Amino acid sequence: MLYDILVIGAGAAGMMAATKAARAGCSVAVLERNPFCGKKINITGKGRCNLTNTRTWDEFARHVHPSANFLRPAFYSFSNKDVVSFFEEAGLKTVVTQGGRIYPESMRAADVSRTLVKCMEEAWVEILCGREVISVCREGDIFRCNYIEDGGRRMDSGSIEALSVIVTTGGLSYPTTGSTGRGYDIAESFDLHLEPLFPSLTALMPWQYDTALSGIDLENVGLTLVVDRTPVQFETGDLSFTDNGIEGALGFRVSRRAVKAILAGQKVFLELDLKPALSTEQLKARIGREMAAMQIDPGRVGQLLMRQLLARLMPRALIVPFVAANPGLSVATLPAALKLWRFKIQSFTGYERAVVTAGGVSQKDVIAKTLCARNVPGLYFAGEVLDLDGDTGGYNLQIAFSTGSLAGESAAQRILKQRASSE
Ligand SMILES: Cc1cc2nc3c(=O)[nH]c(=O)nc-3n(C[C@H](O)[C@H](O)[C@H](O)COP(=O)(O)OP(=O)(O)OC[C@H]3O[C@@H](n4cnc5c(N)ncnc54)[C@H](O)[C@@H]3O)c2cc1C
Repeated sequence: MLYDILVIGAGAAGMMAATKAARAGCSVAVLERNPFCGKKINITGKGRCNLTNTRTWDEFARHVHPSANFLRPAFYSFSNKDVVSFFEEAGLKTVVTQGGRIYPESMRAADVSRTLVKCMEEAWVEILCGREVISVCREGDIFRCNYIEDGGRRMDSGSIEALSVIVTTGGLSYPTTGSTGRGYDIAESFDLHLEPLFPSLTALMPWQYDTALSGIDLENVGLTLVVDRTPVQFETGDLSFTDNGIEGALGFRVSRRAVKAILAGQKVFLELDLKPALSTEQLKARIGREMAAMQIDPGRVGQLLMRQLLARLMPRALIVPFVAANPGLSVATLPAALKLWRFKIQSFTGYERAVVTAGGVSQKDVIAKTLCARNVPGLYFAGEVLDLDGDTGGYNLQIAFSTGSLAGESAAQRILKQRASSE
């Protein structure tokens, strides 16, 4: 059978693309290598799926990399408001939580995948799971997708033909969910360029990391990213120390630039400010008030009293590693130590645990208004396979939904136009 459109990969972008193309009146099949659709969606937002947020375009664009301009047509054609309406109309209620993040009301990510599968089924999309596309070739106006099929005991191979192909294979991050980078090979086989790939939204490992820090979460702290002695990014919010180093919302936010700098051989430091709301002078006054309340004589602060004082200024678990990082700590040096705790960053966690892949199919080789490859009519790209990534907070799934929707609709329009002109 010759399909109008083949979608490669049933993640957020692929399922949205397939639904939109089928709703427009095209015959659509989705090829997914996993035995079921939406494996990555199921682990998003710690199993709750932060599917988008309430930001306006101007606010949203500040969190999109490397350039939000490319995303603009896709976002305007299927915005965050449209995403909410899409899911609500399909029967999935959503809620807005702190910071404008939007989740399914059930707080179950699997409900998002289930809803997308239901939408595909209702639009008569043929869902072909367990088939991994290994290459795509074009013969005249027809694309052929060659795949291998995991039939349990034996592997079969086959091919399917279509008038258009939408590549939504994701990036390289969390490869156990199925995203292993095949879409990049497909793009390169059609002479599209790839922008350098690197993991983003990932943990940063300090040099001589004190493992006593692992497991400590800090709220409302400040973090400055310093590259080759120049401060390049300052963020405030929550940070987590884990076995992999510095992560959490704040660590992730600086990770994109930090990873890029490490890969470029630059020197990277993170400077932690435990009291970003107070100036050093205000902090001195606060420490004075704490000591007065504890009836401590500033001239006689031994180790024990210092630890009691620190207990009033930071989470208890942080005291031992804080003291270890500041040998000779005294009342006089305490304000500066609280304002600046420097970590030299030596490495980062790779794709196995990075939330997204930065880089990908070059924005220059894809038409932003349709998401069709500039030099290959009928070949479309959407989602993380593109050189587009966002910060944490629902940006990445919104990118996948917006680009998936636009690619699906524009691929369908092209087919319907061709059909109308040949009639
Ligand atoms: C742990 C984690 C938590 C996250 N949490 C959030 C969050 O809460 N909010 C948010 O906005 N973003 C979140 N993200 C990021 C977000 O999930 C991704 O950016 C988004 O899912 C990308 O969608 P996609 O459809 O482009 O790719 P994917 O979701 O990766 O889907 C690609 C699909 O293609 C299939 N595939 C790949 N190659 C082939 C092939 N050759 N043949 C057939 N099928 C193939 C894969 O199996 C997969 O199903 C999170 C990511 C991770 C890893």
